[in-house]
Amino acid sequence: MLVYLPNPMTGSGLEKLPFYSHADSRLLSKFSALIAPKNDSELDCLAREARRLTQLYFGKTLRLYAPLYLSNECINSCVYCGFSRENPILRLTLSPEEVYQEASYLWNQGFRSILLVAGEHPKFVSLGYLESCIDKIRPLFPSISIEVAPMETADYERIVNAGAEGVVVYQETYNFDLYKLYHLFGPKKDFFWRLESAERAYAAGARRLGIGALFGLAPWREEALSLAAHTAYLLKKCWRAAITVSLPRLRPAAGGFTPPYPMEDRDLFHFLCAFRITFPQVGIVLSTREQPHFREKLIPFGITAMSAGSKTEPGGYTDAGTHSLHRRLKGKEIPLDENEKNGAKATEQFEISDRRSPDQIAALLKSMGYEPVWKDWETCLNRFKSRLTEK
Ligand code: SF4
Repeated sequence: MLVYLPNPMTGSGLEKLPFYSHADSRLLSKFSALIAPKNDSELDCLAREARRLTQLYFGKTLRLYAPLYLSNECINSCVYCGFSRENPILRLTLSPEEVYQEASYLWNQGFRSILLVAGEHPKFVSLGYLESCIDKIRPLFPSISIEVAPMETADYERIVNAGAEGVVVYQETYNFDLYKLYHLFGPKKDFFWRLESAERAYAAGARRLGIGALFGLAPWREEALSLAAHTAYLLKKCWRAAITVSLPRLRPAAGGFTPPYPMEDRDLFHFLCAFRITFPQVGIVLSTREQPHFREKLIPFGITAMSAGSKTEPGGYTDAGTHSLHRRLKGKEIPLDENEKNGAKATEQFEISDRRSPDQIAALLKSMGYEPVWKDWETCLNRFKSRLTEK
């Protein structure tokens, strides 16, 4: 039997988050007790309950999606990211035609759900550019989400009207003081502008809102509590949208950043079970950052969506756009010499761990008794915005 202890959150810094006082304190107390240290038998008990609730709410299904990187240009300096402006990496921005080329490759692999990812660079990744990319691939993908720089509500509206249904913005860390240490330069330094992105996207009509923390930047229990508070708040405030939560752990990337607060496999498993028990209705996303055997282990305990066969560099699937490769360091473009151009590709954001193909992942899921879901949304249903504004 699970026992829910009083909430030991004092001193976590949570009270500084603007949504904390609006989140459901009963849910947070429950979650706080669930993530407190557990012995193996207590963790087994949590795991059984997490598995039961996952099957009750989602059945044995798992949504598959693919990230498509549009650009690795970025004006921000985030110490943990390979795309940071300080890193003299190989960069490029795909044209909308090249995005279509990459998207067609993913469509042929079976994907019908796609996540467009880009660094923050208003010159190369402008609003008009994003609209063009979405417009180009809309005939192929009923479900398009974006993971790009935070926007004003009016700009999110244009993205939704172009045909995207989801907006993903990870807070990276909810610890305000640590956030300042990791984000040295650029618009991303504004903690609260980022924090309120999901609400602005919702007001603009996005029907799928993705949030998450990058585990490794702060002590994991503190981060997990903040993420739970954010989730509880969004469930109330943005109740018409589907809320999804991602569990990324830091991976090696250009710049050589070492996570100061590594999260062990057991901790991630513990967090997953606790989160599923507290929020049985919330989708949980797992990327290819994790090792194959560990991804398989996590699936029954709460995962509802995962990426497969991912590339984390623009042009990674079909070598699209490599003709425009260059280096850019602190805003200054450095052309490549002839030797460097030979067979070169854009630099990836981080190394992935699970390199299995989408077919292999689908076959694995079937062997585990799961149904891989390539498509769970019809384009004609993208009328969430008009429903939202109806009185
Ligand atoms: S995390 Fe995002 S904003 Fe920061 S450097 Fe990387 S791509 Fe740019």
